[in-house]
Amino acid sequence: MSKYIAMSENTETIFSKIIRREIPADIVYEDDLALAFKDIHPQAPTHILLIPKKPIATLADAESQDHALLGHLLLTAKRVAEQAGLKNGYRVVINAGDDGGQTVYHLHLHILGGRQLDWPPG
Ligand code: AMP
Repeated sequence: MSKYIAMSENTETIFSKIIRREIPADIVYEDDLALAFKDIHPQAPTHILLIPKKPIATLADAESQDHALLGHLLLTAKRVAEQAGLKNGYRVVINAGDDGGQTVYHLHLHILGGRQLDWPPG
């Protein structure tokens, strides 16, 4: 088994199935590197998840070779927020690991907006 296949299996999640269109999602943006879709349990009027197509499990697993991809995700978050009409501001969140509250182990950015968001988070 190649290293790539082993890595893919380790990070196979429901988000991989969304990328492959095996389960439905309300997709709002796609390019060669990333996919954005509406969160199934929205925590704000706008709640979009932005994921890399590369199956990185968690931010802690990102490597220096992912430098450009991570930059692309942040700039794409800005673009997706603009596209969603979040003119008054928004929040971008990455939950990393168990203490960070991560439940799906495929790296994702939450883009939240459409109401005044509280700080600090719980
Ligand atoms: P986290 O807790 O940071 O790992 O976030 C995972 C997010 O994925 C949660 O906000 C879930 O509501 C969301 N989620 C889980 N399954 C789906 C799905 N099938 N479609 C859209 N969002 C999902």
